[in-house]
Amino acid sequence: MKVVVAVKRVVDHNVKIRVKADESGVELANAKMSVNPFCEIAIEEAVRLKEKGIASEVVAVSIGSSQSGEQLRSALALGADRAILVETDDKVYPLQVAKILKGVAEAENAQIVLLGKQAIDDDNNQTGQMLSALMNASQGTFASEVVVNGDKVAVTREIDGGLQTVELSLPAVITTDLRLNEPRFPKLPNIMAAKKKPLDTKTPADFGVSVSSNIKTLKVTAPNERSAGVKVSSVDELIDKLKNEAKVI
Ligand code: AMP
Repeated sequence: MKVVVAVKRVVDHNVKIRVKADESGVELANAKMSVNPFCEIAIEEAVRLKEKGIASEVVAVSIGSSQSGEQLRSALALGADRAILVETDDKVYPLQVAKILKGVAEAENAQIVLLGKQAIDDDNNQTGQMLSALMNASQGTFASEVVVNGDKVAVTREIDGGLQTVELSLPAVITTDLRLNEPRFPKLPNIMAAKKKPLDTKTPADFGVSVSSNIKTLKVTAPNERSAGVKVSSVDELIDKLKNEAKVI
């Protein structure tokens, strides 16, 4: 069975981001960019399915500017067989991404589509859910375990206060949670070999998708600076401050 993995290029999680002066977004110039951490977990899971002999081929897909090719090369170095860059310089929102991924999954006849549960830049947590609805496929979100058994896949999901296991029929859309696996580090020979693996470039129009959206980002602002704390010398002083300064009691 073929597995498609969605890989988003995002600002590296270690970067302290800065909001642009015109409040139109986050400053990306010179910022270190990486594979979205939840997508790394998705790639790892797909590669493990291949290593177990369950997946026949792992196809990594990214939608974005030509620079997203860098993240696809990372996915290839981690073990994906092929990559598809759906190139656009426009800002894409989850519905457009889901429509494009549907086109890719159908063209590839994928039985499993793996995505991160969330992209750490826009924090939408929507794409996998929209994709499964568009594909009329079963969905297992926030996966902490994935076990394929014939034409079914058992997905253990992280839910409030516990774990829930659901059985999905294929094709299925699965989104990864943090505890699903620990992604490997790419080895140097694999990074070199990844340069020779196939990376096709397509456009949203190839899948009949217009990237125009009915959502417009009006402004992005930084959170308020936190003011420094103060040390109090007695419980009475604390209560006084809570009552008269913070006005919370
Ligand atoms: P979101 O719904 O935006 O939080 O994203 C959830 C997941 O959808 C990500 O972890 C990716 O696996 C996938 N995804 C979102 N945007 C893109 C994109 N532009 N290219 C590839 N995959 C994406």
